[in-house]
Amino acid sequence: MAQIRIENVRKDFGSFNAVKSSSFTIEDGEFFMLLGPSGCGKTTTLRMMAGLELPTSGEIYIDGQEVGQKPASQRDIAFVFQMFALYPHMNVRKNISYPLYSQGMAKADVTRKVSEVAEILGITEILDRPVGGLSGGDRQRVALGRAIVRDPKAFFMDEPLGALDAEFREHMSAELRALHDRMGATTVYVTHDQLEAMQMGDKIVVMNHGVVEQFGIPQQIYDWPATKFVAEFIGSPPMNFLEFNGTVGKGAETIELGDASFAIPRQLDGVSGALTLGVRPEHAHLNDASAYRGEVVAAEYLGTTQIVTLRTEHGRVKARIPSHVKVREGERTGLDFDARTLTLFDATSGRALRSDANQEVLNHG
Ligand code: ATP
Repeated sequence: MAQIRIENVRKDFGSFNAVKSSSFTIEDGEFFMLLGPSGCGKTTTLRMMAGLELPTSGEIYIDGQEVGQKPASQRDIAFVFQMFALYPHMNVRKNISYPLYSQGMAKADVTRKVSEVAEILGITEILDRPVGGLSGGDRQRVALGRAIVRDPKAFFMDEPLGALDAEFREHMSAELRALHDRMGATTVYVTHDQLEAMQMGDKIVVMNHGVVEQFGIPQQIYDWPATKFVAEFIGSPPMNFLEFNGTVGKGAETIELGDASFAIPRQLDGVSGALTLGVRPEHAHLNDASAYRGEVVAAEYLGTTQIVTLRTEHGRVKARIPSHVKVREGERTGLDFDARTLTLFDATSGRALRSDANQEVLNHG
């Protein structure tokens, strides 16, 4: 069990700055997701926490002890790799027990530990089978067995399910999360899949170009994105952006879009100029009584819902509405937004506009 804290951690590869000054804390027992697009620096961040890569500057603490310059062997963590590399010439039992024999554990203790772990993972029946003929799921379980048998302080996983097909991936992610809930060990998990991060994580760090864009619980990140990048990266379809010039905050409690006026949901600092209104597709509704108009340009049927795309004078808007509502391409209709859920961004910096109090909630739960 471990709390992991990184403070102002930076990593350069030669003249390339892969991770900019990053700080966040992973609490003891959390299932923590490092999320972002390819190349954003998540694997490098994980490898620095694990001791496989040394930070250029900054500190890494495990249970309060600074370990930034210590090698992996002195950090008591276990890494589960994507390709779940197993020793092909050994059977399941030998694969799992190998790390314990390497540590010099007595045979009777090894036998007991391996039985316990096999029980937890439901692989007792296959302990004496060669790993060569195992299914993908069983191979993943053996790889996990080899990691958990050492009782490490924390598990580090880099896209462990990346090689699996969609259906099996869903099954294994549920199994991994259940395993974590039974064992309670701190787990840090790298993924580029926002759905996986939302489904599995207690907390998420969203990274982009080596920068931590936001850190929080999944619902905060979805409902209160700190930047336009996060708002677009999380959610499918992503948040809609309507670009306009206006003034908000300091007595301006509504925004004017065309002939329509929308209430601003939360207290904001006063800002004037180029702004972006962010609306999740499920918070946009067709309402012919609304003064805000758009033209239907597409409708995508998804079973219980449909995604209707409208062209407005401030940009395209995708609305997720029930599929029984009839819409025709080319028709003009009114559009309404749930005031409570709107997010306003500074169009230039891309940062969400919020009072300090809201920002505090965002960063610290
Ligand atoms: P992916 O999901 O594609 O692995 P990532 O978010 O995990 O992406 P990193 O692997 O951390 O990204 O890489 C971040 C950046 O640092 C990338 O541009 C990558 O090319 C670069 N990088 C990583 N390792 C090295 C290295 N050893 N030498 C030089 N550049 C590196």
